[in-house]
Amino acid sequence: MIDTDAIWHVLEGVADPEIPVVSVVDLGIVRAVTPALVTITPTYTGCPATQVIEREIRDALDAAGYRDVAVETVLSPPWTTDWISESGKAKLHAYGIAPPSDARTATCPQCGSTQTEEISRFGSTPCKAQWRCRDCLEPFDRFKCH
Ligand SMILES: [Zn+2]
Repeated sequence: MIDTDAIWHVLEGVADPEIPVVSVVDLGIVRAVTPALVTITPTYTGCPATQVIEREIRDALDAAGYRDVAVETVLSPPWTTDWISESGKAKLHAYGIAPPSDARTATCPQCGSTQTEEISRFGSTPCKAQWRCRDCLEPFDRFKCH
């Protein structure tokens, strides 16, 4: 018998290729786990990390002895930032990335100020916008909402 809890545990050890402090589980990329199949939804269809994530999940499963567990990528329904877990949002914040929200302003991860502005729709990756804090003047990335 394959224990799906054990598979979840393996997946929790797979870091996002761009943000190594959060796992693919934290980000909500892993949609479902059965003894035969892991279903994943990439964070952003334009994201170059998507294929890397799928390969890393495959490698982690193989390394843990789950060679017979398939990995399937599902694009519908599309991933949204709502799927990021609370602990995932806290880790993003600690890493200096503003967690996504529907608010028009982002909170600066450096000093906590809400006096921030978007300076580019494209941050370090297509999934993030670049923001700047008007108080401490530090730039930071913010996940785009869908
Ligand atoms: Zn600041």
